[in-house]
Amino acid sequence: MKRILTGIQPSGSITLGNYIGAIKQMVNMQNDYETYIFIADMHAITVPQDPKELPNNIKNLLAIYLASGIDYKKNTIFLQSDNIYHANISWMLECLTPYGELSRMTQFKDKSKKNANFSAGLLTYPILMASDILIYDVDYVPTGQDQKQHVELTRDIAIRINKKYNEDVFKVPEPLITKGGAKIMDLQDPTKKMSKSSENQKGVIYLLDTEDTIRKKIGSAVTDSVGKVKYDIENQPGISNLITIYSVLTNKSIEEVEKEFENSNYGIFKKSVADVVVEELSKIQEKYNELVNSNKLEEILKNGKEKTTEIAKNKYEKLKSIIGLHI
Ligand code: ATP
Ligand code: MG
Repeated sequence: MKRILTGIQPSGSITLGNYIGAIKQMVNMQNDYETYIFIADMHAITVPQDPKELPNNIKNLLAIYLASGIDYKKNTIFLQSDNIYHANISWMLECLTPYGELSRMTQFKDKSKKNANFSAGLLTYPILMASDILIYDVDYVPTGQDQKQHVELTRDIAIRINKKYNEDVFKVPEPLITKGGAKIMDLQDPTKKMSKSSENQKGVIYLLDTEDTIRKKIGSAVTDSVGKVKYDIENQPGISNLITIYSVLTNKSIEEVEKEFENSNYGIFKKSVADVVVEELSKIQEKYNELVNSNKLEEILKNGKEKTTEIAKNKYEKLKSIIGLHI
């Protein structure tokens, strides 16, 4: 069975972008792959986090995974910081990666702009991500378009190390981008991706938003003066984003969506988009409320920690041995 790994940072409330770009893919793939799903808490602290909020975000993310249909019996689910080998291996990879490859990463450029005192971890983030991936010798990394660059860097690191030590130390993974390459954009600024850490909450749909809030946010999404429901990222980025959301959630193609709303104004189209989002999220919210306080959550993480620590320890020992960290 082919193996996949994917994770989300508990850096805020989970968004519709995370759901479409990552969670929905995991749900669809869990029966056909050996899957590792983690909560990327060590990635989250590359930007400032409130120590009182973080545990809630971690718990909420785990409950959202389960409520969205990720089955803990079929997947290995774990908390990144529970496995001490991720950061240890990351250090070794850091020492084998040229600095220049990191400073050109889009995410680094975007996030470092937001805070003049950005951490060194923000720069080395992609190497910790490479460590997360390479430890498990995965075949594929399901992810949104925004993380493709980091998976490509991971491949470069794996190829370089395999060559340097003339050994198959790591499997070279491939990114698996959501059908249609879906990147969900901010509703208020459709040239920017929808993000958990976005300052303007009006542009972001959170999975736990109320129906009323979802309808308001979609209702006030930025559009254009063209007046046609047409997929045209250049001239109609806002409408194109809503078409993408509707298309993914209804499993209809872009062309089918354009045809369906050929004679509709933006008001009618937005209402239909809100209807499908509300329908999808209300089912998740119902399950989330049942799960968030259950003691199953701790047990799931405990099992994940045990299983992944054993795998990661082997990889760590292997790296120590080939690098020469032993007597
Ligand atoms: P942050 O702003 O803290 O970086 P984020 O919303 O970008 O948060 P991540 O935890 O960085 O979320 O990413 C988790 C997963 O969600 C990744 O697979 C990423 O590709 C995917 N993802 C994030 N934002 C989007 C988006 N707007 N559209 C599609 N996929 C997305
Ligand atoms: Mg991100």
